[in-house]
Amino acid sequence: MADRIHNFSAGPARLPAEVIDEARDGLLSLADTGIGILEHTHRGLPYRSVYEETVADVRDIGGISDDYEVLFLSGGASSQFHMVPMNFLDADSVADYVITGPWSKKALAEAKAVGRVHVAASTETTGFSTLPQAYNVSVNSAYLHYTSNDTICGTQFFDVPQVGEIQLVCDACSDLFSRTLDVSRFAVLYASAQKNLGPAGVTLVIVRRDLIERGRTDLPSMLQYRSHAQASSAFNTPPVFSIYVVGLMLKWIRRIGGLPALEERNRVKAETLYHCLDSSYLFSSPVEPQCRSMMNVIFSAGDKQLDSQFVSAAEKEGLIGLAGHRSAGGMRASIYNGMTLSGVQRLTEFINWFESSNAGEF
Ligand SMILES: *Cc1c(COP(=O)(O)O)cnc(C)c1O
Repeated sequence: MADRIHNFSAGPARLPAEVIDEARDGLLSLADTGIGILEHTHRGLPYRSVYEETVADVRDIGGISDDYEVLFLSGGASSQFHMVPMNFLDADSVADYVITGPWSKKALAEAKAVGRVHVAASTETTGFSTLPQAYNVSVNSAYLHYTSNDTICGTQFFDVPQVGEIQLVCDACSDLFSRTLDVSRFAVLYASAQKNLGPAGVTLVIVRRDLIERGRTDLPSMLQYRSHAQASSAFNTPPVFSIYVVGLMLKWIRRIGGLPALEERNRVKAETLYHCLDSSYLFSSPVEPQCRSMMNVIFSAGDKQLDSQFVSAAEKEGLIGLAGHRSAGGMRASIYNGMTLSGVQRLTEFINWFESSNAGEF
């Protein structure tokens, strides 16, 4: 039964079976300590080595230099929506936001509660089916914030926005560590783990050290990157299990050949699915081809009833999590790192079957 299930959820999402196996062993005993990962103190050597190895692997696999701090924080990517402006937006500057979907709108709304914001570009009038061509940035811009992959609308940036010297802050929640990335282009990058990197409960935040040092000091400690950096992400009790599983995920990424190999796998999965949709007369993707996400594939039959028939018929075949976001409708197949090519092929076979079994109705 378990083998039949292919989980296309947008997050928490499918993880590689080997990673789950290793995590199960770690629950009973972390290495040969005889104590499980859930029960070790975060001040003890066994957990500290898990943490240190995980940070070292983030740096090594992501190609991240010592100019950056690698932090594991709680509160989800959603907490970064306010932490970024609280630390880096002062009374003399404006924060620029690129609006490409519901997540960037949320980030903007939170920043608005902190300081002055400006929309540098928005694709809302296109129904978020494309990405901006140009940016209108503020003269005294503190940073430009954008969402590299819109998990709900299914768009993805394949190039960094060209905005000159302005500091880039990126919500990479649904595509960090799914492909190669030149981290040196960014001031801040953040992603909660539950899409490509592990379980919910921890957010990976990569921040330039000089910015942390210049950041505001008149904030509660939990809201300053400085406190978390000084305490090696243990300013308060860290989500030890989530960090442990992120560590296992990173070792899995290394085993399969690192980010270049992972990117190639993810590209093949996405191409397989988009090719199926582009050859379909029933289903189509609303997203412009050059900005189609490799992570979240949005599609629809253009008919609410057919879409919901598709979702329930798919469920009966063990293809679950395919309903679009509650605000968007239609379908969404999330094909993060943990999804296999054979899972995607199962979905394309089902799409073809559904289409031919409905053929009489068109
Ligand atoms: C999931 C997601 C978030 C929110 O993450 P939480 O961990 O739930 O706070 C933010 N931005 C993007 C692009 C996402 O996909």
